[in-house]
Amino acid sequence: MLNGKTAIVTGAGRGIGKAIALKLANEGANVVINYRSSKEAAMDLVKEIESIGSKAIAVKADISKFEEAESLILKAKEVFGTIDILVNNAGITKDGLLMRMSEDDFGSVIDTNLKGVFNCIRHSVPLMMKQRSGKIINITSVVGLMGNAGQANYSAAKAGIIGLTKSTAKEIGSRGITVNAIAPGFIDTDMTSVLSDKVKDTIKNGIVLKKLGKPENIADAVYFLASSMGDYITGQVISVDGGMAF
Ligand code: NAP
Repeated sequence: MLNGKTAIVTGAGRGIGKAIALKLANEGANVVINYRSSKEAAMDLVKEIESIGSKAIAVKADISKFEEAESLILKAKEVFGTIDILVNNAGITKDGLLMRMSEDDFGSVIDTNLKGVFNCIRHSVPLMMKQRSGKIINITSVVGLMGNAGQANYSAAKAGIIGLTKSTAKEIGSRGITVNAIAPGFIDTDMTSVLSDKVKDTIKNGIVLKKLGKPENIADAVYFLASSMGDYITGQVISVDGGMAF
């Protein structure tokens, strides 16, 4: 149970972030729902969480911007008093072959998916160090481990998250803070709904369990790490991918 704990989930209005926010709220946490553009969805999620008896607020912030990430963290601290769990989930794709990839498409994916994670960690860690406790969970991807044609920008960012996770874990473990990453495989969300059925079938064939994952599969792993079950785990990358990458 996470009663009395405060969790920030970035990009929580929809997809995997929404499932994570709901899971943590169901386990008793106060949840900060960060969104960038999905205001209505974030507000609806606040209501849904309140209806199950937990507390939630929605906070608009583009986490790729250092100052906006700071405002998000400070707002969470102001409203709930502590920051116990930070889930860096927000992410984008701008897929294309390297030969045709624009500088902007490379840069914006790095800015959101990698620098955004740094920004939120950077502003949370001083508060967690004072508390001498905290759980940081970064959502990377199997493509950060394997690479993927057409996703040089995205897989570079996701591989970067793994280095960031391990280095940060080594720096702040002595202060009672754990830092881990979860590497989802192919999860059924808006991000993957753009793919054709043919492409999805090809991907399914490469998955040992022969099916796509659900956002809830990722949320369960986040809960495991965020709860006391994850107390002795740090610096790890846990794949939740139906057996895609091993
Ligand atoms: P999604 O449905 O496309 O949702 C992306 C979320 O990120 C949205 O809530 C969006 O918020 C938020 N976001 C994007 N840029 C942001 C920014 N600059 N600041 C704040 N929030 C921002 O994606 P998803 O499938 O749920 O993916 C969630 C995470 O899992 C991502 O990190 C993704 O890379 C990772 N992942 C997904 C899969 C998969 O198969 N789906 C696999 C591996 C890893 P707004 O709607 O408010 O803009």
